[in-house]
Amino acid sequence: MITLALSKGRIFDETLPLLAAAGIEVLEDPETSRKLILPTNQADVRVVLVRATDVPTYVEYGGADLGVTGFDTLLEHGSSGLYQPLDLHIARCRMSVAVRANFDYAHAVRQGARLKVATKYVAIAREFFAAKGVHVDLIKLYGSMELAPLTGLADAIVDLVSTGNTLRANDLVEVERIMDISSRLVVNQAALKLKREPIRRIIDAFSLASVTQ
Ligand code: AMP
Repeated sequence: MITLALSKGRIFDETLPLLAAAGIEVLEDPETSRKLILPTNQADVRVVLVRATDVPTYVEYGGADLGVTGFDTLLEHGSSGLYQPLDLHIARCRMSVAVRANFDYAHAVRQGARLKVATKYVAIAREFFAAKGVHVDLIKLYGSMELAPLTGLADAIVDLVSTGNTLRANDLVEVERIMDISSRLVVNQAALKLKREPIRRIIDAFSLASVTQ
């Protein structure tokens, strides 16, 4: 049995064409089914639905043989125990710094002020500001980061930006792009050895299909 860990939403939706290229069709829709283990048209391949931030954990400890996860999640989780053969070029977005439209970010950074930064991505933010030599107080949040500068909780946020609509709707502006983000295929190291053939077939099919994304 080959188990693939996916999270619902954009990653699931954008992985479906890659699965199709490998001849794999998921037989239930996660938006309507309450099942957490979804069968496929191949009796020996199944999909498990987990939270996006749990995908690396499932794959690292063998709860799943493979998974698809954002590069942001991999950087936060640490990925030393995972084989990462492919950038799938899906769920593309960027990690950025954003502030209130009337906040003078450049001035604050130039002055060497201590910046209060709210984010779910503490490791990425810490490394980014450390490399710039900017002193920050990091405030860990689990959701709705956009609210932090609007309520005075923080001066800035570090968050994923795709269209920029969420920032605009909340009068925030993007002031720095930290990095481009896309989703990666991750593979359990032991599974790669023990289930080499079927896993190779999936990697090869994903590889061919993802270059056309
Ligand atoms: P947007 O309004 O299109 O710029 O999207 C921004 C919102 O969607 C933010 O709340 C982000 O955290 C979230 N978001 C955007 N792209 C992704 C992605 N690839 N993976 C997870 N969350 C994302």
